[in-house]
Amino acid sequence: MNGALDHDIGSISHRSNRFRKIHRQTTSNVRKLLDIPLTHHIFFLSSALEAMERILQNTVMEYCTHFVNGAFSEKWYEFAKQLGKKPMKIPAPYGHGFSFKNAIIPVNTELICITQNETSTGVMIPMNDIYPVKRKNPRTLVALDIVSSAPYPKIDFKKIDMAFFSVQKGFGMPAGMCILIVNDHAIEKSLALSIKTPISTYHNFPTLLKMAEKNQTPETPNVLYIHILGKMCHDMLKKGIVKIRKETDKKAKLLYDFAENSEYFKPFVRDEKFRSPTTIDLELINKTSEEAVNKLKAKGLIVGKGYGTFKNSHIRIANFPAHSTENMKFLINELKCIHR
Ligand SMILES: *Cc1c(COP(=O)(O)O)cnc(C)c1O
Repeated sequence: MNGALDHDIGSISHRSNRFRKIHRQTTSNVRKLLDIPLTHHIFFLSSALEAMERILQNTVMEYCTHFVNGAFSEKWYEFAKQLGKKPMKIPAPYGHGFSFKNAIIPVNTELICITQNETSTGVMIPMNDIYPVKRKNPRTLVALDIVSSAPYPKIDFKKIDMAFFSVQKGFGMPAGMCILIVNDHAIEKSLALSIKTPISTYHNFPTLLKMAEKNQTPETPNVLYIHILGKMCHDMLKKGIVKIRKETDKKAKLLYDFAENSEYFKPFVRDEKFRSPTTIDLELINKTSEEAVNKLKAKGLIVGKGYGTFKNSHIRIANFPAHSTENMKFLINELKCIHR
């Protein structure tokens, strides 16, 4: 960040060759890190909520289907209603995953929305559950919210159409930027749709694509953030994504194993298959989240309270690439003495 400021990146023109170079470098690093094929394009938006809205505006005339098991998936569904679409909801109780095999998706569905990692409850959907949904509905677009899981899940992008993540979770940056990944199939849909209905203005897919092909953005972007994201991806590539995934698994296992055997904590997600390695939700027994959060804060550890109705009875712990195994062991030790 300091290096970037030294090179006055904050003040370069977004129409300059220098910006184009930064754009090219960052998209290339994101592509390498997440193994995104050339059939998929990389766009910069301002937030994940914007990505939810743009996807709906650009790919849905009327019908979309939403798998809803928490606050973020619910929000995406609500956006579809607010935009005047006719969304269908396939719900699961909070803390649960889905039985995709038994899900009935109407044939007229244009888009299927899946929150791959539901941050509000700590549920992660395995990618191998998601691919068959696309296989069974090959003409329907599938979009994934990977905000709080990326870069952890290994995604075969050939088997999904869109995905998005913002930079303040797994990439450890300050908030304010989102990466949207969109394939040609979704671009074609947006072009077809644009003849019939407004598909949004400067951030519609055809405009985003036209500019991205020139290594530019429609608006004046946050050049500094695009630059920093490129550096973050570079560092992750140097470390190796396989190693990052292994470490994430290892740290998650330490925490879940501890909670399984603790008399004060219990993993909220009962089915191990759906337990998120990146956002871990623990139920408290005979303690309030307020007490736990404050005790940990005094030790310099920041954990979140539960979401919504679980605000007082759960804590949520991020397990992102920036957190070391030592950090996790230290946290577990402090959790062990929390009753004192
Ligand atoms: C944080 C989060 C969002 C919202 O991200 P913004 O960048 O604040 O818009 C959306 N979905 C999930 C799953 C999240 O965890």
